[in-house]
Amino acid sequence: MTIRVLFADEPAMWEFYRDAMLSAFVDAGLSVDLKTEFAAQDVDYIVLAPAGPITDFSGFTRLKAVLSLWAGVEKVVGNSTLTVPLTRMVEDDMTDSMVEWVTGHVLRHHLGIDANIAAQDGTWNQTVPPLARDRNVGLLGLGALGTACAQMLAELNFRVSGWSRSAKQIDKVACYWGDEGLKQVLQSSEILVLLLPNTRATDNILNADRLGLMPKGAIILNPGRGTLIDDDALLAALDDGQIGHATLDVFRTEPLPPAHPYWAHPRVTVTPHVAAQTRAETSAQVIAENIRRNEAGETMMYLVDRAVGY
Ligand code: NAP
Repeated sequence: MTIRVLFADEPAMWEFYRDAMLSAFVDAGLSVDLKTEFAAQDVDYIVLAPAGPITDFSGFTRLKAVLSLWAGVEKVVGNSTLTVPLTRMVEDDMTDSMVEWVTGHVLRHHLGIDANIAAQDGTWNQTVPPLARDRNVGLLGLGALGTACAQMLAELNFRVSGWSRSAKQIDKVACYWGDEGLKQVLQSSEILVLLLPNTRATDNILNADRLGLMPKGAIILNPGRGTLIDDDALLAALDDGQIGHATLDVFRTEPLPPAHPYWAHPRVTVTPHVAAQTRAETSAQVIAENIRRNEAGETMMYLVDRAVGY
C-alpha cells in the first residue's frame, strides 16, 4: 500500500531534500507518495521543519507520526493540536558537523590562535599554550551531539566533564547531573560548550550567578540554543572580564538583528546558525527508517518526550 508523506518545509527546501528522500524510501522498501501538498485527511506522515508552514495539525485525521527535520523541536513540541508521536532529527552528518564546529572553536581558544593573528607586528612574543591534557572543557548537554563532541575532545586528550538530566557513563568523560553536578562542571570549565535543548527548564540556565561560578576569563561556546543564555548577564560578564570570549551560533532572535550588541562586541564571535545543518542524504535515511519501523509496528528512533520538551 502506498504511504502518503507530506513534506512541510519552506518551498526552497523541497529541491534540497526531494531526491534524497525518494531514494531513501526506495532503499527502505517503502512505496511512498511524497508531495508538498495533499488533502489533510489523506496524509499518513508529515516530514516537518518546525518553523515551516504547518501550525495546526487538527485536520490530519489519519496522521501516524510527525518527523522533524530539525534536532531542536521547541517550536512544535508544545503544539496542542499535535497528538501523534513526534521524532526529532539525529543523523550522522549533522553530528559530524557539530563535532567539527565545536572542536574547531575549542582549539581556537585553547591554542590562543586569535592572539597570534592579532600580533603580526614583528614582535617575537612566545606564549606557549598548555597541552590539551591540562585544559578543562565542560559540556552542558550529553545527548546525541554533546556526547559525540565530548568523545572527540576526550580523544584529543582534553579533560572533559559533562552535565545532563539523567546519570550517564561515557568513557574518559566525567559525567555529572543535578544542581550540584552543574556547579561542579561550571567551576572547572575553562571552556564551556552549551548543547542543551530549549525547554522551560533550560531557559536562561547560564545566568549571572552561574557565569560567576566559572574560572575568570572562561570561554563560552553556544551552538545549542539562544535561550540558554541570559544575554544581559553574558554581556556584563564579558565587559568585566569574568568571561574571556563567547562564540555564539544561536540566538533568541534569528537572524541576529544588525543592532544587537553581540555583533560589535570585541569578545564575541557570531556564527550564523551554521554549526550543524541537517544534511539531505543522511536525514532522509533516518526519516525512511523511522517510517519503515512504524509501518512494521516497531518503535521509532529519537521519539520526543513531550513532558520534558525534547
Ligand atoms: P538530545 O540528544 O536531546 O540531548 C539533549 C541533552 O540535554 C541530553 O543530554 C539531556 O539530558 C540534556 N538536558 C535536557 N534538559 C536538561 C536539563 N533540564 N538539565 C540537564 N540536562 C538536560 O539533543 P541533541 O541532538 O544532542 O541536540 C542538542 C541541541 O542542540 C538541540 O536541542 C538543538 O537545540 C541544538 N542544535 C543546534 C544546531 C546548530 O546548528 N546550532 C544543530 C543541531 C542541534 P538526558 O541525556 O539526561 O536526557
